[in-house]
Amino acid sequence: MNKTWLPSASYNLWLQYAPPIGQEHLHCDMKRGFTKARAREPLVAAILDSDNTHQRIGLLAQKGVYEFHQDPFLLHRTDAIKQLTEILKLEKESDVVQQRVIPILTHYQKNPVLANKKIVKLCRGDEGFPESILIQQGNYSFNLYAAIDCIFGEEDATLHILDFKTGKTDFDKRQAYIYLLAAKYIYPQQKAIASFYNLENGKWSEPITATSNTLEAFQIELALIAQKHQKDMKLYRNNPAEFNQIFLPNPGISCRYCQFNSICSFAISETGS
Ligand code: SF4
Repeated sequence: MNKTWLPSASYNLWLQYAPPIGQEHLHCDMKRGFTKARAREPLVAAILDSDNTHQRIGLLAQKGVYEFHQDPFLLHRTDAIKQLTEILKLEKESDVVQQRVIPILTHYQKNPVLANKKIVKLCRGDEGFPESILIQQGNYSFNLYAAIDCIFGEEDATLHILDFKTGKTDFDKRQAYIYLLAAKYIYPQQKAIASFYNLENGKWSEPITATSNTLEAFQIELALIAQKHQKDMKLYRNNPAEFNQIFLPNPGISCRYCQFNSICSFAISETGS
């Protein structure tokens, strides 16, 4: 069955419009242009296809958690990390990735936060796009995409949405609210809370809850983002030569960490050239 195309919104898209607090200096709207408008160009596609180190670590850490809960005995095996190293084919990863992922798995085995939890959903992390959620905001419809890592049931049947993190990035509450908005549509009869757990340092955020007014405000914001993005994409399709006026570059320190710095004509190198 053919689905009607609709504009979409997600945390990832919001992040490309507005960075989390403290990371404003790294923001550059042109990255959204490369990621969304030029993703099919071979050079851009190659960059997008090659997971960067941080993404690889996050993905393998999540896969490790998933594997721990696929086999209930694995958590108790003394050779669990060796087993996981083989399952995840860690020997094919770079030294940096191996050196970060193995301690994460070891830490998880010692402190398996999902053990004894009623797991409702646990993703491997490489399932691809989640199912879209159709949202009607006034007379505007859009698809919401929310890739939820894990849901478990609390004692009182509240759904607890858990997002796994790695690295030093601070938790961004907007992401939790988007999960709670998604839960409102997927599990309309159930109460939900959300939290973040950093698999690397063991930091677990406070549970985050949202009133219906908060979720409504987030829904309105996401509808606006979907609309703005749809408008920019249309502008670009009609005027590809105006790429850098539609998706404004912000050259500077952001270029140092930008995955597109090898193909971006606005990139500023370390030496400022
Ligand atoms: S290289 Fe710099 S200017 Fe170009 S997209 Fe990346 S951050 Fe923006």
